[in-house]
Amino acid sequence: MTATIPASTSQAAHLRTHTFHGLDTSQPAPRLLVLGAVHGNETCGTQAITQLLAELESGGLVIQRGTVTFIPITNPLAYQLGRRMGDRNLNRNMTVTAEPQDFEDRIANVLCPILEAHDVLLDLHSFHTGGAPFVMIGPQNNTGTLEPFCQAEQEMQLALHTGPWRIVEGWLDTYARGVKRRAQKAASGGSDRSQALVTSTNYGVGTTEYMRSKGGYGVTLECGQHDDPKGTDVARQAILQTMALLGLVDPAAVPLSPAAAGREILRLVDVTDREHTGDRFTREWRSFDAVKTDEVIGWRQSGEEVKAPQDGFIVFPNPRGEVGQEWFYFALRRA
Ligand SMILES: [Zn+2]
Repeated sequence: MTATIPASTSQAAHLRTHTFHGLDTSQPAPRLLVLGAVHGNETCGTQAITQLLAELESGGLVIQRGTVTFIPITNPLAYQLGRRMGDRNLNRNMTVTAEPQDFEDRIANVLCPILEAHDVLLDLHSFHTGGAPFVMIGPQNNTGTLEPFCQAEQEMQLALHTGPWRIVEGWLDTYARGVKRRAQKAASGGSDRSQALVTSTNYGVGTTEYMRSKGGYGVTLECGQHDDPKGTDVARQAILQTMALLGLVDPAAVPLSPAAAGREILRLVDVTDREHTGDRFTREWRSFDAVKTDEVIGWRQSGEEVKAPQDGFIVFPNPRGEVGQEWFYFALRRA
């Protein structure tokens, strides 16, 4: 007897990947991984990948060298629900676990070996509030313990060719600083899983951080607002230019555009948590709004002002952030 499985459940029952190997093996070429819908309601990457798969199927586009794997829907449960996450944020705590606790743990157990089997990652996202696309890179080359790295130059080239004018760096060490502060506060608090996750340094490890920890490199491309139809074109151009940059496609078919000069590079330097549901912003901040030294960004429940420590930028403001989690990030222009 066959059990009746609801269609909705069966869609989230597996992870679908599409891999293409070039037949020209005369010179080495990297293995590229392209991810869509790591967050289920961020579908520009899914749409761009779907278009390109059709072109690869029809022969309109050919992978000449190296390998490319496309995962159009990286979090099928969240995608099916039309939400950012299923049980939790897939782009955090990316690691293999012996005893998976939730849907995203099970995806991570399959996704981590796929990440390790590739050299370069292009992770396609979109964002909630309006604004221009931007691309996130990792740290500069360093031999520290948090995120040691030696491919900053290649990663910057990748970022430049994905298109956006604005580049954001310094995510993991800023995140880790927030985790350290949160852990101190939580020492007396509860021990539920959501609290444990936001107070673990590994919680800051998403797809690109995992990739770097395994010797690869990669960028997160934020293609625009979730519902902006131009996001699909941004994602599509970024995939094509990445394949051209890495030499996976015939340059006559997909010419590599020169990277435009004069990009703005913003370094995340601090994160401020929401401490009370009564904490509120002075206005509806958008990512990359500029603020001046001592400008009031928000008020604590107590009425205390939260001010900009110096001239800089608000990034990832979340007016409805959960108490004890990120309220906004603060960034400076890279000198
Ligand atoms: Zn996202």
